[in-house]
Amino acid sequence: MSERGAMNTIMSLVGTFLLASVAASPSEAQEADLVLRGGVVWTVDDDNPEAQAIASLRDRIVYAGPDEGVRPYIGRSTRVIDLDGKLVVPGFNDNHVHFEGTGRLLYGLNLLDVSTERDFVARIREVHERYAPGTWITGGDWSAYETWAEGDVAEAGREVNPEDLYGNLFLPNKGMIDGFTRDRPVLARRFDRKVYLANSAALEIAGIRKGTPDPAGIAVERQRSGEPTGALFNPVAGAVESTVLVQDNVRALFEPLIPEPSRQQRIQETLRAWDQMKRVGVTSYSDVTSAPIQVDIYRELRDAGRMTARVRYRPSLEDWEYLAGLGIRVGFGDEWIRFGAVKAWIDGIMGNSSARFYEAYTHNPSSRGIWRDIMFPFERSPDNPEDMQSRLERLALLADNAGLQLTVHAIGDEANGYLMDMLERIIEKNGERDRRFRLVHAQVMTDRDIERGGRMGIVAEVQPFHVSDDMRWMEERIGRDRSRGAYAFRRLWDAGAVVSFGSDSPGTNASRYYLNPMLGLYAAVTRKTLSGQPEGGWFPQEKLTVEEAIKAYTLNTAYAAYEEHLKGSITVGKLADFVVLSDNLLTMDPDNIKDVKVVTTVVGGNVVYEAD
Ligand SMILES: [Zn+2]
Repeated sequence: MSERGAMNTIMSLVGTFLLASVAASPSEAQEADLVLRGGVVWTVDDDNPEAQAIASLRDRIVYAGPDEGVRPYIGRSTRVIDLDGKLVVPGFNDNHVHFEGTGRLLYGLNLLDVSTERDFVARIREVHERYAPGTWITGGDWSAYETWAEGDVAEAGREVNPEDLYGNLFLPNKGMIDGFTRDRPVLARRFDRKVYLANSAALEIAGIRKGTPDPAGIAVERQRSGEPTGALFNPVAGAVESTVLVQDNVRALFEPLIPEPSRQQRIQETLRAWDQMKRVGVTSYSDVTSAPIQVDIYRELRDAGRMTARVRYRPSLEDWEYLAGLGIRVGFGDEWIRFGAVKAWIDGIMGNSSARFYEAYTHNPSSRGIWRDIMFPFERSPDNPEDMQSRLERLALLADNAGLQLTVHAIGDEANGYLMDMLERIIEKNGERDRRFRLVHAQVMTDRDIERGGRMGIVAEVQPFHVSDDMRWMEERIGRDRSRGAYAFRRLWDAGAVVSFGSDSPGTNASRYYLNPMLGLYAAVTRKTLSGQPEGGWFPQEKLTVEEAIKAYTLNTAYAAYEEHLKGSITVGKLADFVVLSDNLLTMDPDNIKDVKVVTTVVGGNVVYEAD
């Protein structure tokens, strides 16, 4: 989006903000638009923890209490839903969604569970039939579960050949799809980005033919005749088991050739992602990586009354000055689209052993992981020649001073430790205030940093399903002792941190989460994989109770976005965002939480989803 475009979007948001509705007065019973009664309402409101009935008028809750009390709210035009004893909780608020990626995977190509020709062809055909003519089909991430079956523990799935740098996984060729994609370029990707598959239309556009030399840094697989098979290999390095991608040359080659998705395509992806959110009870989310154009699409769909989940959009820390210049700070926006936080990344991820640790990886003694570029240059503070600062710290000090909320991705223990050090210096220089510093992932922390983070009241922006996913290889990579500090939700909570939950949808390239909060609640409460391993849970002392887990996915995420006055609990005056569930999370066997379904989703007093 151009600066002018961004400005227009922002001005229209300000307009709505000024017109924002006023909370309904709880003093006398008015005829409600919607009444739910006869249920178990778990409000996440300490002053009124359990109710049987809820009433809402326009977009607000006007009643939450016993069934008897709701009767005066029922009028001729009130819609009444009898809950039949079902559980109602506040709408789930997902602290971390890669929204654009989620929409693209849901509406576009998804090959995560694909490692055979038959499925590969069928999935591409399906997308081909859905997409507008000429639109590139990209991504897919095939073979993600070929070595690690989804939900299983080690040894599941297929053995990787240690002689083969590329792991000898399923390898498609263009002949499988060329027949029906003559006018449609396809560039599918293996989950680890080491191998891509281009069809003939895509190869032609990139100028890769029989007789042409391989593009720099890419190995083109060819038939004996010299004809490309469509498989394109990126360079890899390192020991087999930790083989890492050196550089994504295939992406670099194709990126300038692939047109940006059209606005129409983006709208379809957006609606598809919201549709998924309704189905799993997500009524609010934080969008962490979508392009700025997405904000304008949110605005368009909000104005058309088609928005069914509330978003907090998080631009990059690098843009703090532009944002601050527009007057954006914590609280800016309206109840549908809000700003106020900026984001940065300090280290890599566990998936490819690039998270930054104080000590070397257990399985690779020559590596401690990496710092991201934003850490450099590391140079003198403009104010004090003795004070050495990373670029991250310099930007963070300025953005914090401008009233923006800081959120920084940190996985390894040194990455988290550095941020704790940095936060101490920010507090010292910019003074104490209500800053709700969000440690994004807070994945592996030392005992000292858990204690420090708690004392400083950080928000641990965690995605509990990572526990189920990562425990399968965590100890092999960082050893038993460091794993104690992995996803230490219980200790973070008890130390005073605000533990907030989300999904990290669409997931790491090793798993798919699709926004379903039940997977996160299950993981936090059981600390088991989807197949129920290990018995008793992984580091079970870090389990949360189901009540705590619900709070982490609702009120604590609202707090993490400075919106606890508006949402996160079923409280009179707050937004009428809540979900009805198929089973009672509070009384059921926690092992079955992962299978609980959403029956009804209500956003702003509107029933946006009902299961058949
Ligand atoms: Zn993420």
